[in-house]
Amino acid sequence: MPLKDKLPNQLFNLAFVTIEEVLGKNGLNAVLNYAKLSQYINNYPPNTLDLEHPSSDFTRFTAGLIQVLGEKGARSVMLLSGIRSFEIMLRDMPGLFALDGVQIENGTTDKLFDEYVRIQHTMNDAATYIFGDGLHKTSRTGDSWALEISPCYWCMGLKTEAPICHGEIGFELGLARWIFGKDIKIEETHCIAKGDPMCRFVSYRPKD
Ligand SMILES: [Zn+2]
Repeated sequence: MPLKDKLPNQLFNLAFVTIEEVLGKNGLNAVLNYAKLSQYINNYPPNTLDLEHPSSDFTRFTAGLIQVLGEKGARSVMLLSGIRSFEIMLRDMPGLFALDGVQIENGTTDKLFDEYVRIQHTMNDAATYIFGDGLHKTSRTGDSWALEISPCYWCMGLKTEAPICHGEIGFELGLARWIFGKDIKIEETHCIAKGDPMCRFVSYRPKD
């Protein structure tokens, strides 16, 4: 099943606010102009859950970032935007991914990794609700946790040389920083944009 036709305003708000933080207002406006999304210039969707804008605008924005900045240039921008999106979401709109009231308790690395996986599942369920059904598969080994999605709301319609869903990695890194207080290793091993049947993200339990 493709993406839902419309996405919550909060997702657009997060994307534009965080990309503006990284690229500056002129940089963001250049991408919006290039992607033929100039209706959003100085006119970000509000911080609400209403479904007012088409999901195709969201994927066109990602494509525009890559076309303007190149695959390599877009990488760090999307990563930073993903991290900041998680931080702002947690602070201002925790209901978007069902994290309202969630508290992190101190514990061993094993316990924190269990907590990380548990919250990933919570957010994954929320993402399915927001974006629409698709293949969502998760698997756990002792030291890693993998998420597979298809279709992928980050790279829909894109064709790239290398995995491109850095926004997802950044968002998961934001979660990792919240739980562990530091970065952990997260990689995208498969990506639909480069020809794989699904996008697959693997998080590794940090060393003690
Ligand atoms: Zn993807």
